[in-house]
Amino acid sequence: MFIDSHAHIDGPEFDADRDEVLERAHAAGVTAILNVGTGDPHSGVFERAIDMGRRHERIYTAIGVHPHDARFYDDKAESLIKELSETGERVIAWGEIGLDFHYDNSPRDVQMDVFRRQLRAARDCGVPVIIHTREAEAETIEILQSDYTGAERRGVFHCFSGSRELALRALDLGFAISFSGILTFRRADDLRAIAKEVPLDRFLIETDCPFLAPVPYRGKRNEPAYVVEVARCIAELRGLEIESVAELSRQNFETLFDPFARASTR
Ligand SMILES: [Zn+2]
Ligand SMILES: [Zn+2]
Repeated sequence: MFIDSHAHIDGPEFDADRDEVLERAHAAGVTAILNVGTGDPHSGVFERAIDMGRRHERIYTAIGVHPHDARFYDDKAESLIKELSETGERVIAWGEIGLDFHYDNSPRDVQMDVFRRQLRAARDCGVPVIIHTREAEAETIEILQSDYTGAERRGVFHCFSGSRELALRALDLGFAISFSGILTFRRADDLRAIAKEVPLDRFLIETDCPFLAPVPYRGKRNEPAYVVEVARCIAELRGLEIESVAELSRQNFETLFDPFARASTR
């Protein structure tokens, strides 16, 4: 029983065969998926993600403005996310949010300001956050320390590909760390060393599909069924059975996102 804790399956990449993709996930033992809605908040992308989740029982939804789209964030976007987090069926997290200084699709000062605003808003709403960070480690930690205080810092660094230092700081701040197919890539020795070290009650697994398909599917479109390969890799690294990795990551997912509590109150 695997949970894909971060996937993008509401987009056009899956329009032609979404049902088959979900069936393959089910057949592979993937019992739940957290689908992350991203894009220009004013273009209906969050409503689309929630609507898809509503039609599939074991799909949960996260919504938030990705650092790529930070330039579209405004008061209206913030109220929309707040409202949908309250009223949307099975909306369990605010994200993905953070900083991406690799692509710089939005100006860095705008990314930092919008990251701060979304952290504070998520904290006010009491929902955990999903952090995306690339080539912005110091700034990410600084902002989490200054603008995500006062409450338990609940969240996950998704698709982790940072330094050991970043992993330790994130764990120190109370975050979980989620590993994707990158872990299976040939050159990912540093990341595998980190995955060996992360406490077993603080890790998650994900695909981040349609991107980053794990070995042996590398280069193809990724899909939730392939999260099994991430679990297999962690099992080998830690000397565990794959079933234990699945079970531990499921427990960690439920502790962090509390999907049943949130789902049953609405
Ligand atoms: Zn991301
Ligand atoms: Zn993502």
